[in-house]
Amino acid sequence: MTFKNPDEHGYYGEFGGAFIPEMLYPNVKELQENYLEIIGSEAFQTEFRGLLENYVGRETPLYLAKNLSEKYGAKIYLKREDLNHTGAHKINNALGQALLAKRLGKKRIIAETGAGQHGVATATACALLGLECIVYMGEIDIARQAPNVARMEMLGAKVVPATSGSRTLKDAVNEALRDWINNATTTHYIIGSVVGPHPFPDLVARFQSVISEEIKAQLKEISGSENPDYVIACVGGGSNAAGAFYHFVDEEKVKIIAAEAGGHGLQSGQSAATTFLGTTGVLHGSKSLVMQDADGQVTEPHSISAGLDYPGIGPFHANLFAKKRAQFFSINDDEALEAAFELTRAEGIIPALESAHALAVLNKLKFENNNTVVICLSGRGDKDMETYLKALKEITK
Ligand SMILES: *Cc1c(COP(=O)(O)O)cnc(C)c1O
Repeated sequence: MTFKNPDEHGYYGEFGGAFIPEMLYPNVKELQENYLEIIGSEAFQTEFRGLLENYVGRETPLYLAKNLSEKYGAKIYLKREDLNHTGAHKINNALGQALLAKRLGKKRIIAETGAGQHGVATATACALLGLECIVYMGEIDIARQAPNVARMEMLGAKVVPATSGSRTLKDAVNEALRDWINNATTTHYIIGSVVGPHPFPDLVARFQSVISEEIKAQLKEISGSENPDYVIACVGGGSNAAGAFYHFVDEEKVKIIAAEAGGHGLQSGQSAATTFLGTTGVLHGSKSLVMQDADGQVTEPHSISAGLDYPGIGPFHANLFAKKRAQFFSINDDEALEAAFELTRAEGIIPALESAHALAVLNKLKFENNNTVVICLSGRGDKDMETYLKALKEITK
């Protein structure tokens, strides 16, 4: 049994598949039939790897955080995805899919975005590769994420407001899917995480797997052993975690730890901790764990970090949870804030709020002295300064 990849129908255990309206079938089928051959080809890999190195700035450092290590009594390494171009891991996937789209003969790209991070990464890849770019974004999110909207527009993307439903991320996904149905032959949909119908979860996980590929080689060089005792990452949809876990999930001895956004707390009605609060359901084209009410209506999630504010997780992670291969923690808003300030003061690194959820797990585990722990620092905190400053004012009041 492998945890890494789905079966030929896109299933990870009981989760995954492609639950799509008939009108989307040709697009999804085209991808299913071509993605492995295209991205496995030498020409594709040469171009993709070249861009990762010279444009994104990979490989990213695996940094031994000495002060954190001393405090927690383990060797704590940070995988520095925050140092990537555009500030997070999302660019790995956006570039990979944009290159794939070109090889499929598509000249028009659509994407959904919540806080704008995936929209910016996609607009960046499209500017570089000369592709038309349309980003769907909830009307409410457009109002509260003005700097990212400006970035996308400067990069040449068209930002289209989603005005239905709660006017946030899930409505933007619905608008993007509607566009894709109407423009099947010309357009590729760059989905932003390991979610969506097969083959998207596998496709995105493969593009992000460069994270654990590098960790293995870097650990081997540092310590002689390529496997750590723990790998820790935050899970929104799950793409940085899938990338950080990918080459370790089939190594039994490596403990896999996922941090979900607990929001105001599991019982508060304002949370995004899907494995704790969710049940099996279908969301955005795949069967997974979903936060929903008794009628199967998706419930509105909450997290202080926009990137974790999603009412589901990808099927890769749902399977890790169901098979008990990974341990999941729910990290509340205040715990994430505290972890962000701790890293900033201890190491001089301001993390993204999403990544701070992974850091907060350090308080919940008991390490032995020679344990090697790798934490995926998925992004940098520039975008979260407003939230951090507000918290700082509360603390010093
Ligand atoms: C978007 C984002 C996430 C959450 O997305 P995943 O697909 O779960 O990785 C995490 N960290 C950062 C910095 C992000 O921008």
